[in-house]
Amino acid sequence: MLVTARIGVLALQGDVREHRRALEAVGATTAAVRTAADLAAVDGIVLPGGESTTMSRLLGVFELHHPLRAALAAGLPAYGSCAGMILLASEVLDTRPDARCLGAIDMTVRRNAFGRQVDSFETDLDVAGVDGGPVRAVFIRAPWVERVGDGVDVLAAVPADAGGGAGAVVAVQQGRVIATSFHPEVTGDLRIHRRFVDLVRAR
Ligand code: GLN
Repeated sequence: MLVTARIGVLALQGDVREHRRALEAVGATTAAVRTAADLAAVDGIVLPGGESTTMSRLLGVFELHHPLRAALAAGLPAYGSCAGMILLASEVLDTRPDARCLGAIDMTVRRNAFGRQVDSFETDLDVAGVDGGPVRAVFIRAPWVERVGDGVDVLAAVPADAGGGAGAVVAVQQGRVIATSFHPEVTGDLRIHRRFVDLVRAR
């Protein structure tokens, strides 16, 4: 039996529409999440790309920071891309001192890590658990992961021949929470979204 997954996309700022389109293309039902009531009605949540300090501020304005942190701690599956990865971290470097994160993955993330001259680039990445060849990964002023805790699986790192940032960890998973530095929602490659929706359905 196919179980319908209702996936929320945090809709305070960022590329919400692209994520909803990708999730719907792999068979999920989606909903915009702006309130604690919206959050309570979803089986999983996507934190989109955008600007993490702005999203952090808006989480406070919309009184979503504590409900979201609590839902994640209680096991709500989540996927964050780029700014979403930053929000899911337990520690963020090079951010504003007042920026808040959600602590859903035991990792230290460096914001805007790839530096100005290469702050946007693309490369092919092998991602663990994603079959069918490398994923075309688009990095836009992206973070990288500098430390992971014991319970965190590294899913992908930038290849050695990719220039600046070679070897940087750019995709991780801890339990039912996935984060990528890059933006699969802008490439039409649905495999990461499918993997996340499968994870939500399996719950
Ligand atoms: N640099 C952005 C931030 O700090 C993230 C960029 C993105 O999501 N494309 O939030």
